[in-house]
Parts: sequence; structure tokens; C-alpha cells
Amino acid sequence: MLDLVVRGGRVITPAGVIDADVGVADGVIAAVEPDLAGGAREIDASGLHVLPAGLDPHVHFNEPGRSHWEGIRTGSAALAAGGFSAFFDMPLNSTPPTIDGAAFDAKLAAARRDASVDFGLWGGLVPGARLEELAARGVVGFKAFMSNSGIEDFAHADDVTLYEGMAVAAELGLLVAVHAENDALTARRRGDSVRDWMDSRPLVAELEAIGRALTFAEATGCALHVVHVSSGSGVALVTAARARGVDVTCETCPHYLFLTPEDVAALGPVAKCAPPIRDAPEQDALWDRLRGGELDFVTSDHSPSSPELKAGEFGDAWGGISGGQSTLELLLGAFAPEDAARLTTSAAARFRIAGKGAIELGADADLALVDLAAPYTLQAADLRYRHPVSPYLGRRLQARVRRTLVRGLDPAPGVGRHLRPTIR
Ligand SMILES: [Zn+2]
Repeated sequence: MLDLVVRGGRVITPAGVIDADVGVADGVIAAVEPDLAGGAREIDASGLHVLPAGLDPHVHFNEPGRSHWEGIRTGSAALAAGGFSAFFDMPLNSTPPTIDGAAFDAKLAAARRDASVDFGLWGGLVPGARLEELAARGVVGFKAFMSNSGIEDFAHADDVTLYEGMAVAAELGLLVAVHAENDALTARRRGDSVRDWMDSRPLVAELEAIGRALTFAEATGCALHVVHVSSGSGVALVTAARARGVDVTCETCPHYLFLTPEDVAALGPVAKCAPPIRDAPEQDALWDRLRGGELDFVTSDHSPSSPELKAGEFGDAWGGISGGQSTLELLLGAFAPEDAARLTTSAAARFRIAGKGAIELGADADLALVDLAAPYTLQAADLRYRHPVSPYLGRRLQARVRRTLVRGLDPAPGVGRHLRPTIR
């Protein structure tokens, strides 16, 4: 007998979209077919789409050390509410940053205690980082900042650190992810306005850094991932490199797609991020390349802070956007459900996380039950973050996540398991 049957939904599978029941045994998908016999538990999914739950490989939950900014308990609960069954936590904004084995162990303990969904942990590539120690503990890859990270204990990766770190990562069989902005070109403050901020982080700073990271990756044989690409021109560099054989992928985030510079001016610091939101030509090109399949996945880069750090002048405010709960619902307003599902799950393949990202026999029963005909206006009371803040408050969303299952379980603190990549 099956432990659980999710009955009567429209199921997004790798083979197509079908009307079927999903049967679960021992947390794993055991059957996908119509009219399954009864399970020990039953969930009625009639009228709903059943998507593979998402894996968000780019969040900052800031624990340990800055859990007053978010924390794993609230951050993972918010992701679960938004249809995600797994996340990878970035190595910075926690204190200590995840740059050696002891720091990894501290974060792992916190995540095992509090995570409502499964989790992987990034290691940091900074001068002096203990990459071998981190690899032995199962990091999903190494994250480097090519510009100032905004966090004092997470130094930017100078060229020597980045180049030599990529060589080590290649040896270890792990990927390097870069925040790609030229440090010198983004170091000058111009003024306090939104436009000053955008002018202080010009497109050329992003393109130069992506180009340099690609050169280093090609020279070292390191697998590269470019996080939060903000521009169509940035994606074009990645696509061209991939065509000549470089092992590279990139992501973008909802804010680069759904917020305009005019929105940022109206919303203020809640919509401040780096790289900044681009003007229409680059944003349109980003949409075109996303629709054309050139970007592998969409991540939230959920990076909240305490509300005080988002108050005051735009120029002084913390640069980071709180949005992890809304990624899937935003994408479902712009894409067919099978495409939204692909954009929120394909990180599992890129990071070689076995058993995640698809509704197929033998995979983890990670399911998002979504109502595609339930438009609603996002309110603060809907948000599960520590601070109910988001640039998407007041926005009309076309779809609503009704329930998320993690290996067949309802998300709750302690349910999350540590995910390690398969090393080639
Ligand atoms: Zn980030």
C-alpha cells in the first residue's frame, strides 16, 4: 500500500503534462498514473496543477550570526509556502561566513534543527578559504564576489584568488559561482538617488567581470555559474562561451524581470539590489533570452536585512531583495506551468543533486500543488519571512501555491535534510 496518494491533479512530468495520481512510498515517487488504489494518506489535488517543487540555489538566510535579518526557520518556511522543497544557502551574511570547516559545521547544525525543506550549503571563495575542508563536508560549490560584497568578513576575490581558486575547484570537481561586477568600476559612490545607484554600477562593470570569469574558467577547466545576471548582454556572453565549449551556466532573478527602474524609484530601498535593475532595452533582451532557453534557471537571491537597514536614504540602504516566497508565483504569471517548473527545478541537474527536480519514478516526492486560477493581491500577512517586507507587496499574482510536500512530508522545522552534490 502506498503511504500517500496525491489524487486527481494535472501533473507536470518530464514526459508531458498528464491527468494522474501521484503515489508516494518511503518519501519517493512510486507511481504516476490515473486511478491509483487508496493510500494511507490522501491529498485531493483536483483542480490543481502538481509541479515538481522548486530548488532555489541562491538564498541568504543569514544564520548563524544575523538571524535577526531572516534565519533558516522563517526563510525555509517562506520558501515552502512558495512551492519550494529545497534551497542552497549562500556563504555570506552569516557570521562566521562559510569559508572553513568549522563555519560549515555551525551552519549545518542550525539548518538541521530549523530547516523546513531540504538544503545544500555553499562554501565561500575568499582569500584564505579552506576549499578542501569545505569540499569534504559536501558544499554544493564555491561562491566568489568579484566586487565588494558589502559584508566586512567576506572579502572580494581578487584575480589571483579567483583564478587559483577555480583551479582548485576544478580539481575537487566542484563549480564556482561568481557575483560578476568589476570591483574598481563599482567602488565609487555618486549620490543618494536611485539613478545615482544605477549609474554607480554600470552595465560595463557586469560585462567585464563576466568576460574575465569566463576566461579564467576556460583556462582552468572549472565549471562556472554566473549568478543574478541582470542584462541580456550578460547572458549573450555566457551563451557565446558555452558555444565554444566552456562549462558555464547562468541564472537571473525575478526582480530583473518584473521590476523596472521606475518601480525601484517608487518603491525605494526595498527594491535596491546589485547589480541594479536595468533599463528597458537590456531588460527586454533578458526576457528574450530567458524565453529562448539561454538561462538555466531563475533564483530568488533572497537577501533580506533588518528593517532599519532598509530605512533612510537609498544610497545608504542595504542592497538586497526579499522575495524568495514569490519566485514561482511570479513566473507562473508569465510562463506555462511546465516552463515555470523547469526554471525553478533545473538547478538540481546543474548542481548534480540526485533525486530532485522532476516528478518521475524513484525521485523524491517533492511536490508543489498550485492553483493556476486563483489570482490574488500579495499582502504582508501572506509572507512568512521574519520581516514581512517585499517589493512585490500589493502586486496581483495570477497563481497561488496551495501546498508543498518535501519527500511526501509537510514542511516543518527539522524536516529538511542536507543535500550533497554527486562528485564526478
Ligand atoms: Zn546573493
